[in-house]
Amino acid sequence: MTKTIDVQLNAKAVAELKKGYPLILKDAVLNPQVLKEEGSIIKLVDRNWRFVAKGYYGVQNKGIGWVLTRKENEAIDFDFFKSRIAAALKRRESLFEDADTTAFRVFNGEGDGIGGLTIDYYDGYYVVSWYSEGIYSLKHHIYNVLEKIVEYKAVYEKKRFDTKGQYIEQDDFVKGEPGDFPIIVKENGMNFAVDLNDGAMTGIFLDQRDVRKAIHDKYAEGRTVLNTFSYTGAFSVAASLGGAAKTVSVDLASRSESKTIEQFSVNGIDYEQQEIRVMDVFDYFRYAKRHELKFGLVILDPPSFARSKKYTFSTARNYPELVKDAIAVTEKNGFIVASTNNASFGMKRFKTFIDRAFKETNTRYKILEESSLPRDFRSNRDFPEFNYLKVVILQKLN
Ligand code: SAH
Repeated sequence: MTKTIDVQLNAKAVAELKKGYPLILKDAVLNPQVLKEEGSIIKLVDRNWRFVAKGYYGVQNKGIGWVLTRKENEAIDFDFFKSRIAAALKRRESLFEDADTTAFRVFNGEGDGIGGLTIDYYDGYYVVSWYSEGIYSLKHHIYNVLEKIVEYKAVYEKKRFDTKGQYIEQDDFVKGEPGDFPIIVKENGMNFAVDLNDGAMTGIFLDQRDVRKAIHDKYAEGRTVLNTFSYTGAFSVAASLGGAAKTVSVDLASRSESKTIEQFSVNGIDYEQQEIRVMDVFDYFRYAKRHELKFGLVILDPPSFARSKKYTFSTARNYPELVKDAIAVTEKNGFIVASTNNASFGMKRFKTFIDRAFKETNTRYKILEESSLPRDFRSNRDFPEFNYLKVVILQKLN
């Protein structure tokens, strides 16, 4: 066992932690010189060395570690990790029983009690993501727990912290019987091909499950659909299976084309009846405006920040412009799905971006739905900053 270090926090941080805030911010630490080895278990104390909580030291962009328990006597050992992971699995029992959905998140970091760690389930395969050197150094506990309490085909892992180039040739396989990728997982009856051993991404963003379902069930039927920043075309698949007349998927990554063809194909959709364009979304908007193309559904799901040869896009600055582009190519009574995963602003501000775009184009709209992360991406309601996803589905009225 690593020895426990006493870390003193300022009064503001102590008050926040007492309210349940799980993150330890760098600036809150009064004696940073004691923090040496990532993965150390730390006792968080106030100015007078009184116990507040216990956590671990692990550097992420957001902070320098996470609270693990507020009980002074609870040891951070195998039993600790077992209790948190077992509770998380239990909360997802209904998903495990749902034959129509075989891919979802089983452990969501601080929302399930351990910041910096997520575990996703893909039809018998588990993918563990480590967000700091600190939590990674505690991996033996987590892998021991998985060994004991779940049945898996194989375990894969993603290191989502700066490994300083050490693992460039990394293989994400950890243990079990290696998968023959792509494997096909299901989500509300739709098929998705995933590869768990192909870099940071697997082929599907699990946090958009509810949005894919909404598009499939309510917004696609009979419509022509423009899916921007389409990646592997998952929203296009949902729209097409939901009865869309046609989909156009636009992404500038060249591999998005073969990946999108694959996603259509595993759903029995003839990809030749769909349009897949490898190009800059902003160029596509120009092209669509020039040709007066109109869509019944436009999907916007840009990365928080993107730089292409011609344009730099930041959701925090340029979202209103993006919505204006979408408005220009949306039919009267058409739908726009506006999504962002930028954690630096909340829903309220996001809606002001949308509102500004409509005001500046003298267009009216009606919000039909607002949503955030699905239930398996558990997050504490008191701290909305950890619930990064914001989705607004609206109708353009004129
Ligand atoms: N909507 C997708 C996920 C989008 S990920 C889904 O639900 O699966 C973001 C994607 O934006 C990446 O595939 C990236 O290649 C693409 N991208 C970034 N900047 C772009 C640009 N200027 N034009 C087109 N695609 C862009």
